Amino acid sequence: MDKKPPRYGPADSLASPRFSGIRTYARLPHLTDLGEVDVAIVGVPFDTGGTYRVGARFGPQAIRAASALIRPYHTGSGVAVFDSLSVVDYGDVPVVPGYIEESYKRIKAGLMDVLKAGVIPIDLGGDHSIALPELRALHEVHGPVALVQLDSHSDTIDSYFGMPHTHGTPFYHAVNEGLIDAAHSSQVGLRGGMYSARDHEVPREMGMQVIAGVEAHELGMAEVAKRVVERAGDARVFLSFDIDFIDPAYAPATGTPEIGGFTTWESQSLLRGLSGLNYVGFDVVEVIPAYDVADNTSFTAANIVFEFLALLARARA
Ligand code: MN
Ligand code: MN
Repeated sequence: MDKKPPRYGPADSLASPRFSGIRTYARLPHLTDLGEVDVAIVGVPFDTGGTYRVGARFGPQAIRAASALIRPYHTGSGVAVFDSLSVVDYGDVPVVPGYIEESYKRIKAGLMDVLKAGVIPIDLGGDHSIALPELRALHEVHGPVALVQLDSHSDTIDSYFGMPHTHGTPFYHAVNEGLIDAAHSSQVGLRGGMYSARDHEVPREMGMQVIAGVEAHELGMAEVAKRVVERAGDARVFLSFDIDFIDPAYAPATGTPEIGGFTTWESQSLLRGLSGLNYVGFDVVEVIPAYDVADNTSFTAANIVFEFLALLARARA
């Protein structure tokens, strides 16, 4: 085996200070030529799906800015992430603010360019409505994929205000469009007041495993991870991380905060337990920097992305 070393990785922060230069994720090169790339960080700066607070269009740039502090060695899993993965910051896919269906077309087309190159996208939202064009693109390449959704909310409502597409509806449509392999899918962390008990029954009726927030707290992260991994099996997996999974004490800058959430450590611990799955895509969504305190939410999201990269690197190392 004479596998070539990865071509693209971050700037050396022992040679130039991490606060210098133009902001990309983790000081990676900004490239749209995807030859010799394994993973692309992709911004999806779209927030027309927001039903309460908006401003997630500024999520990608804030996560990139906060990510300057990311170092290349992942202590938790003992992996030098960029020794086995060639990673670039692809920039943002096109969107049309205010026009959700047109944006869906352009987001999907933008992500198709990444997927057709055989590259795994890690998308920076944007509100959670972007999950539908993400799944439409993934489906075109991979067929139905298993969903692992960490979120306070199921996002399986059929409509808001009589309209089909918001950040509360993407997984309802994704299941109905046949994009999700529900039998291998899990939603974890659902909590907070609901419109009715139906909010948690619907994803179960769709065939997904639902581990609500209270149950996840009682089980502990290791057991939650075990159940999610067992459920996913060897299916192709899309991992969608709504930052509101984390308690607003740690991640206040989000569209629909819910108390009783998970710590940053619990989130890292859960993600580290989700190793060995056949990942085909990731996102972290719902960061609204205008509501942030000391960049806590953006910094947390930047580290969640690093956990995704570590999962991929561990699988290759
Ligand atoms: Mn969500
Ligand atoms: Mn949510």
